[in-house]
Amino acid sequence: MTNKILFIANWKMFGDLNSVKSIQSVINLSKKKNYKNAKIIYCPPYTLLNNFVIKTRKTNLDVGAQNCHYEINNGPFTGSISSTMIKKLGAKYVIIGHSENRSNGETNNLINKKIHSAILNNLNVIFCIGENLFEKKNKKTNKILKKQIGMGLKKIKKIDKIIFAYEPVWSIGTGKVLKNKELIKQVIIIKNIIENKFKNQKAKIIYGGSVNNQNINNLKQINEINGFLIGGASQNSKKFIDIIKKTIN
Ligand code: PEP
Repeated sequence: MTNKILFIANWKMFGDLNSVKSIQSVINLSKKKNYKNAKIIYCPPYTLLNNFVIKTRKTNLDVGAQNCHYEINNGPFTGSISSTMIKKLGAKYVIIGHSENRSNGETNNLINKKIHSAILNNLNVIFCIGENLFEKKNKKTNKILKKQIGMGLKKIKKIDKIIFAYEPVWSIGTGKVLKNKELIKQVIIIKNIIENKFKNQKAKIIYGGSVNNQNINNLKQINEINGFLIGGASQNSKKFIDIIKKTIN
């Protein structure tokens, strides 16, 4: 892995005010010379976004939201948050297209609208793609990935603010991870799909799905990826630090 290595923590629907202080040890680690190459981004639930932005001020860490509405202006959308609100708060990233939202009815078209709104607001997008078990078993993985990328990025011209998070749905929270050889093959296919669509642009791809402090020694060998999107293991600072340390050292 070259350049900055991304460690994106997706806290999902976990965490309360008490958990904000738990990231202090991660902040301390990020200040050490050896870890200048690690780009750590926390995506807490909306209720903690402001606290995380304040906590990470004047550090190398950044903060992202876990989703956004497609509408950039204020409006009657009960329970929703716009990319404009996220930007104004001081967060710099937003996860869009996570499989846990896709499985709740989020379509490729809706994801596309959300990505446009985030880009308009100059946010970095962590764009999640990945096949489910049924699609994998039926050898539809590449077709699905192509569709998710094609429709999700319709009318998007530049991918410099997009991080592609390859997250096989069957791998999220299950402990199951592809063998390195298969994962590398899949990442290269994704890279080709993206770079065919966006000529002369470089795709930034990270991997997500059951990354933990046990399998990281293996996963860090993969040069074709730029880092990791980490769910469960990122909510425990000790485990998260262990992952970062093992990757960097
Ligand atoms: C995720 O939800 O983005 C994720 C990668 O989860 P986990 O690490 O728990 O599999």
